[in-house]
Amino acid sequence: MKQTMHAVIFRGPLDFGIEAVPLPHISSNDILLKVITCGLCGSDLRTLKFGHRKVTPPFIIGHEICGEIVEVGSQASPAWKTGMRLAVAPVVYCGVCIYCRQQRLELCESYQEIGQVWPGGLAEYVAIPADALRRGVINPLSPSIDMVQAAVSEPLAACLHALEKVDFSTVRSAAIFGSGAIGCMLLQLIRKRGVQTIILIDPNDDRLNVAKIFHPDATINTNDVDVVNEIKTITAGIGVDAVFTATAAPIVQEQAIAISSHGGQIIVFSGLPKEQAQVRVDYNQIHYHNLRISGTSIYSPDHHKKALELIENGKINVKDIITTYPLLDFISGAKAALNGEIIKAVFIP
Ligand SMILES: [Zn+2]
Ligand SMILES: [Zn+2]
Repeated sequence: MKQTMHAVIFRGPLDFGIEAVPLPHISSNDILLKVITCGLCGSDLRTLKFGHRKVTPPFIIGHEICGEIVEVGSQASPAWKTGMRLAVAPVVYCGVCIYCRQQRLELCESYQEIGQVWPGGLAEYVAIPADALRRGVINPLSPSIDMVQAAVSEPLAACLHALEKVDFSTVRSAAIFGSGAIGCMLLQLIRKRGVQTIILIDPNDDRLNVAKIFHPDATINTNDVDVVNEIKTITAGIGVDAVFTATAAPIVQEQAIAISSHGGQIIVFSGLPKEQAQVRVDYNQIHYHNLRISGTSIYSPDHHKKALELIENGKINVKDIITTYPLLDFISGAKAALNGEIIKAVFIP
């Protein structure tokens, strides 16, 4: 095997590129994956722009990984065999907190991530550490699954977790803030749950236009109109029964409450930048309108498994949200994603 590889090295905010680096070293309990595809996540975009408190540069980012095992450490479980193809999601649960012990892994209070604690998958090879093999989210890929689409299984797993927070029996209308990959997948998933009117909201026309292939009933560009008034108009003054916030804009949290119908459900999908996370909330609206606000983050291994099944069986269209790039063209792919010209970049080393 060769001794060096190409990898995306993050050196600081808006300072990143492809570099030649030594192949990852694996210890006796780890495995080495040859990366076949790796998606660029919304959280990666934030890291590229602003840095990340858990990422110490220079560092290889990337956590939506599909690859093939090329080396198995001498002490690793014999279940791992060279030639096996895996989808690796980044989350490694702590295994000891109260939630892990209750098998409510998606609530783990101190999970760690590949691409933050351990070097990530935007590279030709990635070491999968023993901790991830034991307590992470790794699923074998069936021979028939498309490896580009399978790279989106990680964000799709987060969407499936989010949907569990919603009581769909009363949801006739919904609004989704953010027409990125998450918004486009949520749109398809909630349509299948029988929601009649789905409104997609974003400040970027390029992204709204791509999302139109998933047939939202209305799209709203927040730069053009007042979103609260517009939703009231579309819903005859009632508001929407479910709101998903799949964008990191603080104003959206206030708008989500303002556009909710009585009994409305708000799913807080996206985190906010730490210094902007204190949001003004009108508690009287929550009280008098009987609103329900649910947070959701990460997923369980089961959500990830289910996500792979949906992709493999063509139950969700992820193909049309993906633009592929050779890994060596990382800069152009990342720029297109940062500018909102494309929805999801998947890189192929
Ligand atoms: Zn991701
Ligand atoms: Zn835990």
